[in-house]
Amino acid sequence: MSDQINKDAPVLVTGASGYIAQQVILLLLDKGYKVRGTIRSLDKGPALKNLLATQDPRAADIELFAADLTSDAGWDDAVAGCTYVHHIASPIPPELPKDPNELIVPARDGALRALKASKAAGVKRVIMTSSVASVAYGYDNQPDVLSEEDWSNPDNLKDNTAYTRSKTIAEKAAWEYLSGPGQGLELATVNPSAVLGPVLSGDFSASVEILTQLMGGQLPATPKVGFQIVDVRDVAATHVAAMETPGAAGHRFIAASDYYWFEDIAKLLREEFPAQKKKIPHRKLPSFLLRLLSIFNPVMKQVVPELDKKRFVSNDKAQSILGVTFRPGKEAILAGAQSLIDHKVV
Ligand code: NAP
Repeated sequence: MSDQINKDAPVLVTGASGYIAQQVILLLLDKGYKVRGTIRSLDKGPALKNLLATQDPRAADIELFAADLTSDAGWDDAVAGCTYVHHIASPIPPELPKDPNELIVPARDGALRALKASKAAGVKRVIMTSSVASVAYGYDNQPDVLSEEDWSNPDNLKDNTAYTRSKTIAEKAAWEYLSGPGQGLELATVNPSAVLGPVLSGDFSASVEILTQLMGGQLPATPKVGFQIVDVRDVAATHVAAMETPGAAGHRFIAASDYYWFEDIAKLLREEFPAQKKKIPHRKLPSFLLRLLSIFNPVMKQVVPELDKKRFVSNDKAQSILGVTFRPGKEAILAGAQSLIDHKVV
Protein backbone atom coordinates (compact mmCIF):
# COMPACT_ATOMS: atom_id res chain seq x y z
CA MET A 1 0.00 0.00 0.00
CA SER A 2 2.57 2.53 1.13
CA ASP A 3 4.76 1.53 -1.85
CA GLN A 4 2.37 3.41 -4.11
CA ILE A 5 2.99 6.63 -2.18
CA ASN A 6 5.67 8.99 -3.45
CA LYS A 7 7.91 9.41 -0.43
CA ASP A 8 9.72 12.41 -1.90
CA ALA A 9 6.78 14.70 -1.14
CA PRO A 10 6.75 15.87 2.48
CA VAL A 11 3.92 14.81 4.78
CA LEU A 12 2.62 17.66 6.93
CA VAL A 13 1.76 17.17 10.61
CA THR A 14 -0.03 20.13 12.24
CA GLY A 15 0.55 20.82 15.93
CA ALA A 16 3.91 19.03 15.73
CA SER A 17 4.67 19.80 19.40
CA GLY A 18 1.73 17.70 20.62
CA TYR A 19 1.65 14.31 22.33
CA ILE A 20 -0.09 12.46 19.47
CA ALA A 21 1.64 14.47 16.71
CA GLN A 22 5.09 13.55 18.07
CA GLN A 23 4.27 9.84 17.70
CA VAL A 24 2.81 10.37 14.21
CA ILE A 25 6.04 12.15 13.21
CA LEU A 26 8.21 9.36 14.63
CA LEU A 27 6.21 6.69 12.80
CA LEU A 28 6.34 8.63 9.51
CA LEU A 29 10.13 9.03 9.87
CA ASP A 30 10.44 5.34 10.66
CA LYS A 31 8.55 4.52 7.45
CA GLY A 32 10.86 6.70 5.38
CA TYR A 33 8.62 9.71 4.83
CA LYS A 34 9.90 13.27 4.73
CA VAL A 35 8.15 15.15 7.50
CA ARG A 36 7.08 18.74 7.79
CA GLY A 37 5.38 20.17 10.86
CA THR A 38 3.54 23.27 11.98
CA ILE A 39 4.07 24.87 15.36
CA ARG A 40 2.71 28.13 16.75
CA SER A 41 6.10 29.76 17.08
CA LEU A 42 9.35 28.81 15.37
CA ASP A 43 11.17 29.77 18.57
CA LYS A 44 10.17 26.35 19.92
CA GLY A 45 11.49 24.55 16.82
CA PRO A 46 15.03 23.67 17.96
CA ALA A 47 13.82 22.23 21.27
CA LEU A 48 11.17 20.15 19.50
CA LYS A 49 13.66 18.78 16.98
CA ASN A 50 16.11 17.94 19.77
CA LEU A 51 13.38 16.14 21.68
CA LEU A 52 12.30 14.08 18.67
CA ALA A 53 15.94 13.38 17.79
CA THR A 54 16.32 11.58 21.13
CA GLN A 55 14.04 8.96 19.54
CA ASP A 56 15.11 9.19 15.88
CA PRO A 57 18.09 11.16 14.53
CA ARG A 58 16.19 11.76 11.26
CA ALA A 59 14.09 14.29 13.20
CA ALA A 60 16.92 16.77 12.59
CA ASP A 61 15.68 17.00 8.97
CA ILE A 62 12.07 17.93 9.77
CA GLU A 63 11.00 21.23 8.20
CA LEU A 64 9.00 23.42 10.59
CA PHE A 65 6.53 26.16 9.64
CA ALA A 66 4.75 28.63 11.91
CA ALA A 67 0.94 28.43 11.75
CA ASP A 68 -1.72 29.18 14.37
CA LEU A 69 -5.25 27.79 14.22
CA THR A 70 -6.58 31.30 14.80
CA SER A 71 -4.83 33.01 11.88
CA ASP A 72 -4.57 32.53 8.10
CA ALA A 73 -0.85 33.23 8.15
CA GLY A 74 1.50 30.38 7.29
CA TRP A 75 -0.97 27.67 6.23
CA ASP A 76 -0.43 27.99 2.47
CA ASP A 77 3.34 27.74 2.83
CA ALA A 78 3.06 24.79 5.20
CA VAL A 79 0.94 22.64 2.84
CA ALA A 80 2.69 23.59 -0.42
CA GLY A 81 4.01 20.47 -2.15
CA CYS A 82 2.43 18.02 0.31
CA THR A 83 0.30 15.08 -0.81
CA TYR A 84 -0.85 14.18 2.71
CA VAL A 85 -1.66 16.35 5.72
CA HIS A 86 -2.28 15.07 9.26
CA HIS A 87 -4.31 17.78 10.93
CA ILE A 88 -3.81 17.09 14.62
CA ALA A 89 -3.60 20.55 16.28
CA SER A 90 -6.60 21.52 18.41
CA PRO A 91 -6.85 23.05 21.88
CA ILE A 92 -7.16 20.41 24.63
CA PRO A 93 -6.66 22.26 27.92
CA PRO A 94 -6.60 20.64 31.38
CA GLU A 95 -9.08 23.29 32.60
CA LEU A 96 -12.18 24.43 30.76
CA PRO A 97 -12.33 28.11 29.79
CA LYS A 98 -15.32 30.19 30.90
CA ASP A 99 -16.14 30.98 27.28
CA PRO A 100 -16.63 27.75 25.24
CA ASN A 101 -15.70 29.67 22.09
CA GLU A 102 -12.10 29.75 23.30
CA LEU A 103 -12.03 26.08 22.28
CA ILE A 104 -14.74 25.86 19.65
CA VAL A 105 -13.53 28.67 17.40
CA PRO A 106 -9.88 27.58 17.05
CA ALA A 107 -10.87 23.90 16.70
CA ARG A 108 -13.43 24.57 13.95
CA ASP A 109 -11.79 27.48 12.14
CA GLY A 110 -8.35 25.92 12.43
CA ALA A 111 -9.61 22.70 10.81
CA LEU A 112 -11.18 24.74 8.02
CA ARG A 113 -7.93 26.68 7.53
CA ALA A 114 -5.96 23.44 7.22
CA LEU A 115 -8.54 21.97 4.80
CA LYS A 116 -8.88 25.09 2.63
CA ALA A 117 -5.11 25.48 2.31
CA SER A 118 -4.85 21.76 1.47
CA LYS A 119 -7.56 21.98 -1.19
CA ALA A 120 -5.92 25.04 -2.78
CA ALA A 121 -2.51 23.33 -2.81
CA GLY A 122 -3.80 20.13 -4.45
CA VAL A 123 -3.21 17.93 -1.39
CA LYS A 124 -4.68 14.45 -1.94
CA ARG A 125 -5.86 13.56 1.58
CA VAL A 126 -6.18 15.14 5.00
CA ILE A 127 -6.26 12.86 8.03
CA MET A 128 -7.76 14.79 10.92
CA THR A 129 -7.66 13.89 14.60
CA SER A 130 -11.20 14.10 15.84
CA SER A 131 -12.26 12.25 18.99
CA VAL A 132 -14.69 9.87 20.61
CA ALA A 133 -16.04 13.21 21.87
CA SER A 134 -17.67 13.54 18.41
CA VAL A 135 -19.28 10.12 18.73
CA ALA A 136 -20.44 9.43 22.27
CA TYR A 137 -21.83 12.61 23.89
CA GLY A 138 -25.19 14.32 24.24
CA TYR A 139 -27.59 11.37 23.92
CA ASP A 140 -30.92 11.14 25.70
CA ASN A 141 -30.81 7.37 25.28
CA GLN A 142 -27.22 6.41 24.73
CA PRO A 143 -26.68 3.12 22.85
CA ASP A 144 -24.62 0.50 24.74
CA VAL A 145 -22.01 0.39 21.99
CA LEU A 146 -21.38 3.36 19.72
CA SER A 147 -19.66 3.30 16.35
CA GLU A 148 -18.50 5.62 13.56
CA GLU A 149 -22.14 5.80 12.43
CA ASP A 150 -22.99 7.74 15.59
CA TRP A 151 -22.61 11.47 16.12
CA SER A 152 -22.58 13.36 19.41
CA ASN A 153 -25.16 16.10 19.93
CA PRO A 154 -23.14 19.17 20.98
CA ASP A 155 -26.32 21.11 21.80
CA ASN A 156 -27.11 18.88 24.78
CA LEU A 157 -25.07 20.96 27.22
CA LYS A 158 -25.68 18.68 30.21
CA ASP A 159 -23.76 15.85 28.57
CA ASN A 160 -20.96 17.87 26.97
CA THR A 161 -18.09 20.14 27.90
CA ALA A 162 -16.70 22.97 25.80
CA TYR A 163 -14.00 20.51 24.69
CA THR A 164 -16.35 17.72 23.58
CA ARG A 165 -18.49 20.31 21.77
CA SER A 166 -15.40 21.74 20.06
CA LYS A 167 -14.46 18.34 18.66
CA THR A 168 -17.94 17.56 17.31
CA ILE A 169 -18.39 21.01 15.82
CA ALA A 170 -14.92 20.93 14.20
CA GLU A 171 -15.38 17.45 12.72
CA LYS A 172 -18.86 18.29 11.39
CA ALA A 173 -17.51 21.48 9.81
CA ALA A 174 -14.73 19.46 8.16
CA TRP A 175 -17.12 16.92 6.56
CA GLU A 176 -19.47 19.73 5.48
CA TYR A 177 -16.58 21.54 3.82
CA LEU A 178 -15.67 18.33 1.98
CA SER A 179 -19.17 17.93 0.60
CA GLY A 180 -19.24 21.60 -0.51
CA PRO A 181 -16.32 23.75 -1.62
CA GLY A 182 -13.79 21.10 -0.61
CA GLN A 183 -15.12 18.48 -3.05
CA GLY A 184 -12.28 16.49 -4.59
CA LEU A 185 -10.10 16.65 -1.48
CA GLU A 186 -10.08 13.41 0.52
CA LEU A 187 -10.69 13.33 4.28
CA ALA A 188 -10.43 10.60 6.90
CA THR A 189 -10.78 11.17 10.62
CA VAL A 190 -9.22 9.32 13.54
CA ASN A 191 -11.44 9.42 16.64
CA PRO A 192 -9.40 8.38 19.69
CA SER A 193 -10.71 7.65 23.17
CA ALA A 194 -8.56 8.71 26.18
CA VAL A 195 -4.97 8.60 25.00
CA LEU A 196 -2.23 7.27 27.29
CA GLY A 197 1.14 5.65 26.63
CA PRO A 198 4.66 7.00 26.78
CA VAL A 199 5.39 10.72 26.99
CA LEU A 200 8.67 11.96 25.53
CA SER A 201 9.13 14.77 28.05
CA GLY A 202 7.57 16.48 31.02
CA ASP A 203 5.37 18.50 28.64
CA PHE A 204 2.33 16.41 27.65
CA SER A 205 -1.35 16.34 26.76
CA ALA A 206 -4.23 16.91 29.17
CA SER A 207 -5.24 13.24 28.87
CA VAL A 208 -2.04 12.21 30.67
CA GLU A 209 -3.41 14.13 33.66
CA ILE A 210 -5.38 10.94 34.34
CA LEU A 211 -2.06 9.43 35.43
CA THR A 212 -0.45 12.51 36.98
CA GLN A 213 -3.55 13.14 39.09
CA LEU A 214 -3.66 9.52 40.26
CA MET A 215 0.10 9.17 40.85
CA GLY A 216 0.97 12.67 41.99
CA GLY A 217 -1.16 12.71 45.12
CA GLN A 218 -3.62 15.31 43.75
CA LEU A 219 -6.65 13.02 44.12
CA PRO A 220 -7.60 11.95 47.66
CA ALA A 221 -10.11 9.44 46.24
CA THR A 222 -11.19 8.14 42.81
CA PRO A 223 -14.33 9.56 41.18
CA LYS A 224 -16.76 7.12 39.52
CA VAL A 225 -15.41 7.98 36.10
CA GLY A 226 -14.06 5.76 33.36
CA PHE A 227 -12.79 5.86 29.80
CA GLN A 228 -11.69 3.52 27.08
CA ILE A 229 -7.93 3.88 26.91
CA VAL A 230 -5.85 3.86 23.74
CA ASP A 231 -2.08 3.89 23.42
CA VAL A 232 -0.65 6.99 21.75
CA ARG A 233 1.49 4.75 19.51
CA ASP A 234 -1.66 3.02 18.24
CA VAL A 235 -3.33 6.37 17.57
CA ALA A 236 -0.28 7.24 15.45
CA ALA A 237 -0.52 3.89 13.65
CA THR A 238 -4.20 4.55 12.92
CA HIS A 239 -3.33 7.99 11.49
CA VAL A 240 -0.64 6.62 9.20
CA ALA A 241 -2.79 3.65 8.12
CA ALA A 242 -5.62 6.08 7.30
CA MET A 243 -3.13 7.89 5.08
CA GLU A 244 -1.75 4.78 3.36
CA THR A 245 -4.96 2.81 2.89
CA PRO A 246 -6.60 3.79 -0.42
CA GLY A 247 -10.11 2.93 0.78
CA ALA A 248 -9.86 5.00 3.97
CA ALA A 249 -10.98 8.23 2.34
CA GLY A 250 -14.41 9.40 3.45
CA HIS A 251 -14.33 7.38 6.67
CA ARG A 252 -14.14 8.00 10.40
CA PHE A 253 -12.01 5.56 12.43
CA ILE A 254 -12.43 5.07 16.15
CA ALA A 255 -9.14 4.35 17.96
CA ALA A 256 -9.93 2.81 21.35
CA SER A 257 -9.05 -0.18 23.50
CA ASP A 258 -10.17 -1.49 26.92
CA TYR A 259 -12.46 0.35 29.30
CA TYR A 260 -11.06 1.32 32.71
CA TRP A 261 -12.75 2.96 35.67
CA PHE A 262 -10.43 5.33 37.57
CA GLU A 263 -10.51 3.03 40.60
CA ASP A 264 -9.20 0.16 38.45
CA ILE A 265 -6.41 2.33 37.02
CA ALA A 266 -5.50 3.30 40.58
CA LYS A 267 -5.48 -0.37 41.65
CA LEU A 268 -3.26 -1.34 38.72
CA LEU A 269 -0.84 1.52 39.46
CA ARG A 270 -0.66 0.59 43.16
CA GLU A 271 0.19 -3.01 42.22
CA GLU A 272 2.77 -2.18 39.55
CA PHE A 273 4.44 0.84 41.16
CA PRO A 274 4.70 0.01 44.88
CA ALA A 275 7.10 2.93 45.45
CA GLN A 276 4.30 5.36 44.50
CA LYS A 277 1.63 3.43 46.40
CA LYS A 278 1.13 5.91 49.23
CA LYS A 279 0.12 8.71 46.87
CA ILE A 280 -2.31 6.65 44.77
CA PRO A 281 -5.87 6.85 46.13
CA HIS A 282 -7.58 3.69 47.36
CA ARG A 283 -10.86 5.29 48.44
CA LYS A 284 -13.83 6.23 46.25
CA LEU A 285 -15.08 9.80 45.89
CA PRO A 286 -18.90 9.89 46.07
CA SER A 287 -20.36 11.45 42.92
CA PHE A 288 -22.53 13.95 44.85
CA LEU A 289 -19.39 15.30 46.51
CA LEU A 290 -17.56 15.70 43.22
CA ARG A 291 -20.55 17.57 41.78
CA LEU A 292 -20.36 19.90 44.76
CA LEU A 293 -16.59 20.39 44.52
CA SER A 294 -16.83 21.05 40.78
CA ILE A 295 -18.62 24.32 41.50
CA PHE A 296 -15.28 25.67 42.76
CA ASN A 297 -12.79 23.46 40.92
CA PRO A 298 -12.50 23.87 37.11
CA VAL A 299 -10.56 20.60 36.65
CA MET A 300 -13.36 18.69 38.36
CA LYS A 301 -15.99 20.52 36.30
CA GLN A 302 -14.61 18.80 33.21
CA VAL A 303 -15.35 15.43 34.83
CA VAL A 304 -19.01 16.05 35.75
CA PRO A 305 -20.59 14.82 32.46
CA GLU A 306 -18.59 11.60 32.88
CA LEU A 307 -19.80 10.76 36.39
CA ASP A 308 -21.41 7.30 36.76
CA LYS A 309 -21.59 6.99 32.98
CA LYS A 310 -20.07 4.32 30.76
CA ARG A 311 -19.59 5.32 27.12
CA PHE A 312 -18.36 2.45 25.00
CA VAL A 313 -17.25 2.58 21.36
CA SER A 314 -16.35 -0.22 18.94
CA ASN A 315 -12.90 -0.31 17.34
CA ASP A 316 -13.90 -2.92 14.72
CA LYS A 317 -13.73 -0.59 11.74
CA ALA A 318 -10.12 0.52 12.26
CA GLN A 319 -9.12 -3.13 12.66
CA SER A 320 -10.97 -4.39 9.59
CA ILE A 321 -10.35 -1.55 7.10
CA LEU A 322 -6.97 -0.24 8.29
CA GLY A 323 -5.57 -3.47 9.72
CA VAL A 324 -4.46 -1.77 12.94
CA THR A 325 -4.47 -3.58 16.27
CA PHE A 326 -4.80 -1.90 19.64
CA ARG A 327 -2.57 -2.67 22.60
CA PRO A 328 -4.42 -3.58 25.79
CA GLY A 329 -5.29 -0.53 27.89
CA LYS A 330 -3.05 -1.94 30.64
CA GLU A 331 0.02 -1.56 28.42
CA ALA A 332 -0.82 2.08 27.64
CA ILE A 333 -1.41 2.87 31.32
CA LEU A 334 1.82 1.24 32.48
CA ALA A 335 3.98 2.69 29.68
CA GLY A 336 2.56 6.13 30.40
CA ALA A 337 3.13 5.81 34.12
CA GLN A 338 6.70 4.53 33.67
CA SER A 339 7.52 7.42 31.32
CA LEU A 340 6.19 9.94 33.86
CA ILE A 341 8.41 8.38 36.51
CA ASP A 342 11.39 8.42 34.12
CA HIS A 343 10.82 12.13 33.41
CA LYS A 344 10.43 12.78 37.15
CA VAL A 345 6.92 14.16 36.69
CA VAL A 346 5.53 11.92 39.45
P1 NAP B 1 -1.52 18.17 22.97
O1 NAP B 1 -0.26 17.49 23.29
O2 NAP B 1 -2.00 19.24 23.89
O3 NAP B 1 -1.45 18.72 21.49
C1 NAP B 1 -2.30 19.72 21.03
C2 NAP B 1 -1.58 20.42 19.90
O4 NAP B 1 -2.44 21.45 19.37
C3 NAP B 1 -0.31 21.12 20.37
O5 NAP B 1 0.68 20.94 19.38
C4 NAP B 1 -0.73 22.58 20.46
O6 NAP B 1 0.33 23.50 20.26
C5 NAP B 1 -1.68 22.64 19.29
N1 NAP B 1 -2.54 23.81 19.38
C6 NAP B 1 -3.46 24.13 20.33
N2 NAP B 1 -4.00 25.33 20.07
C7 NAP B 1 -3.40 25.78 18.94
C8 NAP B 1 -3.53 26.97 18.17
N3 NAP B 1 -4.37 27.96 18.50
N4 NAP B 1 -2.79 27.07 17.04
C9 NAP B 1 -1.91 26.10 16.68
N5 NAP B 1 -1.74 24.98 17.38
C10 NAP B 1 -2.49 24.82 18.49
O7 NAP B 1 -2.72 17.11 22.91
P2 NAP B 1 -2.90 15.75 22.09
O8 NAP B 1 -3.50 14.79 23.02
O9 NAP B 1 -1.68 15.39 21.35
O10 NAP B 1 -4.06 16.20 21.10
C11 NAP B 1 -3.89 16.19 19.71
C12 NAP B 1 -5.23 16.02 19.04
O11 NAP B 1 -5.82 14.80 19.47
C13 NAP B 1 -6.25 17.11 19.36
O12 NAP B 1 -6.98 17.36 18.18
C14 NAP B 1 -7.14 16.45 20.40
O13 NAP B 1 -8.43 17.00 20.43
C15 NAP B 1 -7.15 15.03 19.87
N6 NAP B 1 -7.53 14.02 20.86
C16 NAP B 1 -6.77 13.82 21.98
C17 NAP B 1 -7.16 12.84 22.89
C18 NAP B 1 -6.39 12.58 24.14
O14 NAP B 1 -6.87 11.83 25.00
N7 NAP B 1 -5.18 13.12 24.29
C19 NAP B 1 -8.30 12.06 22.64
C20 NAP B 1 -9.03 12.29 21.50
C21 NAP B 1 -8.63 13.25 20.60
P3 NAP B 1 1.18 24.09 21.50
O15 NAP B 1 2.21 23.04 21.83
O16 NAP B 1 1.77 25.34 20.95
O17 NAP B 1 0.20 24.33 22.61
